[in-house]
Amino acid sequence: MASSSMSSQPGGAAATGAEPAPVSFAELGLRPELLLALSSLGYEEPTPIQREAIPPLLAGRDLRGQAATGTGKTAAFALPALQRLPEAAERGPEPSILVLVPTRELAVQVSQAFHRYGRDLGVRVLPIYGGQPIGAQLRALQRGVDVAVATPGRARDHLGRGTLRLDGVRTVVLDEADEMLDMGFAEDLEAILDRTPAQRQTVLFSATMPARIDGIARRHLRDPIRIEMGHAAVASGEPPRVRQTAYVVARAHKPAALGRVLDVAAPAAAIVFCRTREEVDQLTETLNGRGYRAEALHGGMGQEQRDRVMGRLRGGTAELLIATDLAARGLDVEQLTHVVNYHVPSDPGAYVHRIGRVGRAGRTGEAITLAEPREHRMLKAIERVTRQRIAVESVPTVADLRARRLELTRAALQESLLADDLEHFRVVVESLAGEFDIMDVALAAVKLAHESSGGDASETDDAEIPAVAAPPPPPPPSGRTRPSGRRRPPTGEPVARLFLGLGRRAGIRPQDVVGAIAGETRLTGRDIGAIEIADRFSLVEVPESAAEEVIAALRRSTIKGRRPTARRG
Ligand code: AMP
Repeated sequence: MASSSMSSQPGGAAATGAEPAPVSFAELGLRPELLLALSSLGYEEPTPIQREAIPPLLAGRDLRGQAATGTGKTAAFALPALQRLPEAAERGPEPSILVLVPTRELAVQVSQAFHRYGRDLGVRVLPIYGGQPIGAQLRALQRGVDVAVATPGRARDHLGRGTLRLDGVRTVVLDEADEMLDMGFAEDLEAILDRTPAQRQTVLFSATMPARIDGIARRHLRDPIRIEMGHAAVASGEPPRVRQTAYVVARAHKPAALGRVLDVAAPAAAIVFCRTREEVDQLTETLNGRGYRAEALHGGMGQEQRDRVMGRLRGGTAELLIATDLAARGLDVEQLTHVVNYHVPSDPGAYVHRIGRVGRAGRTGEAITLAEPREHRMLKAIERVTRQRIAVESVPTVADLRARRLELTRAALQESLLADDLEHFRVVVESLAGEFDIMDVALAAVKLAHESSGGDASETDDAEIPAVAAPPPPPPPSGRTRPSGRRRPPTGEPVARLFLGLGRRAGIRPQDVVGAIAGETRLTGRDIGAIEIADRFSLVEVPESAAEEVIAALRRSTIKGRRPTARRG
């Protein structure tokens, strides 16, 4: 059951360059209610981390996994935890599953995932985070909750008030543990874990494994299964000769960004990989709407239908194949020039298998990946495993697109000039030449050629797609630190210093400030710089571009029960 680039110890099998044999969710031992939910979400097969993690977690083992966003780690811990829930009639009001996450954003996302996967099990899920009025949380807790997904600060608040009881917890998950430590939650984590039953199952996921994670794992995990990503060599022999590019783009702009990237790349034949059947169908529709000849290929289609689609791609009647990994497995299309990953694949092995479809047997090809800002880490993991660079570029602008279209028109005209079959048109040019300058005649002809090949951008193409800066790489372990022990935000970006009218006397700690900001804004702990806590006030550095958002959020929130004044310092 080993995949090409995941290794689990003990018992992890050796990696090979071969594609992993397909394994279904049912073969992993999941119950029918969960299988139904997954199939209605359009999931076709488990990701490598799910293949590795689900069986031991179902068997009750502890687990320590190195996995970043995009690997499918949420389902890897949520599905077995849901399966181990008591039957509905036997559930009390207290949570059986506790998931600790660093930010509000993640609390909401993970809660939604539990809700979707557990819809046929009647699970009650509650996200618990700071900045939200506590009253609604109290009422929900009183009604009864099976899964609590909490940020550590707010969870500890509830423990202190006696409104959250953890005696019935069977599974605790520490998700993005490194991020929680970075945000100063170490002490809160210890205090929370101490309040859960000793015989509980504990799962820890972290994108990186610094020494401090070892400490937590040693104290709180019992004989854990370890899963690590990207340790094994992926493929034997020559890596494919493929130019690799990634574009970092916000989720909301992905369809537009894909259209733009394809317009500029102008592939003769490409596969676009998606995660689910639904996504394949949606994207196929979108791209056909943009004038592409796109065909869907997924596991919900019969063999005959799939053969027809492949025939169209091979015959050149279709230029884009929108596919899931499962459906595209084993496909070899001679003409393929581009592989496009609509998301960063769930592990480096999947990436290598995908891009191996171009650049075979001496051909060269291009691999294009759209990554969300949080998936930047996965790109780095892939680079480490493949030992090849992925160039991160900005999504082409409208000006880039126009320039590229003119370039295509120029190339078409050049080809026509070289083909030397233009005599037929001489009479037209000669008759116009008497009346107009020959240059103007040429310009008008080029304009017509450009427009008839679809070269003039339509209105939707004119919308600029906002650039997203990729998060900075994590600093080296010995990186310089500030007096508060926190790192500065990414260098290069202007920093704003904010004043908060609460300080040590109000019981404020750096992690309270981080928690309030990360819980209420799009910033994560890593974006927040030095924090100084004085007796009556605090100063915190944030990226200038987010300063107004942070001030507004702080004014809305409460820290240690008090509403701070906030302004530029
Ligand atoms: P995560 O790494 O947990 O943040 O998951 C990344 C994304 O992959 C989420 O949007 C999930 O809904 C999706 N996902 C997780 N597992 C699968 C799967 N087996 N097949 C398709 N999509 C999945």
